[in-house]
Amino acid sequence: MSDIIIGIDLGTTNSEVAVVQGGRARVIPVDGAKILPSVVGLADDGALLVGQTARNQYALYPERTVRSIKRRMGEDTKVQMGPQSYTPQEVSALILRRLKQAAETDLGQPVTKAVITVPAYFSDAQRQATRDAGALAGLEVVRIINEPTAAALAYEVDHPESKNILVYDLGGGTFDVSVVRLSRDVTEVLASHGNNHLGGDDFDAKLVEHLVAWLKEEKGVDPSHHRAAMARLTRAAEAAKIALSDAPFVRVEEEYLLEQAGNPVHLSLEIARDDYEDMIAPFIAETLEAVHTAMQGAGLAVADLHEVLLVGGATRTPLVQSRLEDILGIQPRAEVDPDLCVATGAAIQAAVIAGEQVSGVLVDVTPYTFGTSAWSDLNGEPYPYTFIPLIRKNTPIPVTKSEAFDTMYDGQTAIDVRVFQGEDPDALNNTELGSFRIEGLSDVPAGNVIITTFALDVNGILHVTSREKRTGLEKHITIDNATARFARDELEAARGRLSDLIGEAETVETVETVEAGETAGRREAVAARALIETAERLMGAANAEDRDDLVDAVEAVRDALTAEDSAALGQALGQLSDLIYYLET
Ligand code: AMP
Repeated sequence: MSDIIIGIDLGTTNSEVAVVQGGRARVIPVDGAKILPSVVGLADDGALLVGQTARNQYALYPERTVRSIKRRMGEDTKVQMGPQSYTPQEVSALILRRLKQAAETDLGQPVTKAVITVPAYFSDAQRQATRDAGALAGLEVVRIINEPTAAALAYEVDHPESKNILVYDLGGGTFDVSVVRLSRDVTEVLASHGNNHLGGDDFDAKLVEHLVAWLKEEKGVDPSHHRAAMARLTRAAEAAKIALSDAPFVRVEEEYLLEQAGNPVHLSLEIARDDYEDMIAPFIAETLEAVHTAMQGAGLAVADLHEVLLVGGATRTPLVQSRLEDILGIQPRAEVDPDLCVATGAAIQAAVIAGEQVSGVLVDVTPYTFGTSAWSDLNGEPYPYTFIPLIRKNTPIPVTKSEAFDTMYDGQTAIDVRVFQGEDPDALNNTELGSFRIEGLSDVPAGNVIITTFALDVNGILHVTSREKRTGLEKHITIDNATARFARDELEAARGRLSDLIGEAETVETVETVEAGETAGRREAVAARALIETAERLMGAANAEDRDDLVDAVEAVRDALTAEDSAALGQALGQLSDLIYYLET
């Protein structure tokens, strides 16, 4: 039997183990889950608990439960657990031993070697402590690698030339950002920065504060000193936080949370994502500061970055992704499961050391962005067809994402929901996949909340539902083969693309008269803009003569627009579209 080497992410909050088999990296389940909480404890009867069971008892028995031991690695100290005290290496060894056992059960053979990851900033003493923990667990640590390096391996960042990547790692209790330069076989951590007391747990704590404040105000009780109630609130807060990553609202329900004067107290409270985002915004701002510091430390400008990789469960928070994209101008990559990507990278490194072939990580992702349109700012101006992406390209599938929209007018009883695929901020420049109208909405003032949900399955079937929040009235559409259909469409000739553009502009009419009552001139302006953009794109590759023709035709369109001469505009648009058609085919 070959000498298998496993890859281990020994994390502050959670740990994972992975292995490469048949060329593919695979995370090994531990106690039926892919994630083992990095918590160790002693049960009532003195039995050793590792993982979820230890985590479950933490809130009730902190004196015999140890968590976040990674923060103490390398320190000459001991932590108390029940009657005895233990070194950080010993506690970590218990976690490693559990991972080793799970690997042995899964693989059906003894496992004695591992690659273990550590944060880029770990000192020699911390790295040595990690090796010692491995030895105590019966594992020879064949290599210690940096977590951002492991992430880059899992994301298969190809780097024929040298490449600068930023790895943003926001876990449960720690935050690290590293700027890494990859070149052929060398991975260099240029700078690393962070806060090892910042993470998703802080988001939970903010939500707990919010729930406690509600209980005080609405129910007149303060649960702060009821351990069991606080443990339930913490758990409910984490579940709410996770739900808010995919939906604009969540309801937290905890029945019989505690008793007050012999009466049960129930908690039932809705939380809006917008309010939650306000609560966590300061934490995210702090991480962005650290991103700047790391970039400065690496001596790089934003324009020098080639990729941004997300690691750590808390990076599933949409605000994290959108703020990073705002400041770095690159859509962060999130297609490798952020909880598992460091362990996966460790397994890939292990396979390379063992001399095995690795063909990478297999993830099913959507190759396209799907979204809808709404009144919103586009280039600083309100525009009715601003593209609102719900499912971004490269998101692992299946996936379900919801967003809230508000009605525009008092007494608005209908809305049109349009489904687009594409990347352009103007929905009309994307491809429309379908639309539907939801009628019979309540006769209420503007701001009636409509929740639109996009669910994309592994077969590329896109299910879009819109629901009036206050009544539950809903309507939906199913688009078969949303992903495959457009793979074929991409191969279609320029005529198809062009008629799409014009066709889309024409469909604007009905919707605009219903929704916005805009003029027909606006419609032509939209078509004109789309054609001008296409023309400008073509100018780069055109020869001098064709370029002059394009410039003239675009000028004619612009002149007609300025003069508001609709007959001249129609003619100029016709000429420009003929020219584009000729150049594109
Ligand atoms: P890690 O230490 O990388 O395993 O990350 C764990 C943290 O990620 C915990 O705070 C989790 O609550 C958080 N987390 C997991 N899934 C999500 C999600 N979908 N949205 C937001 N946070 C999440």
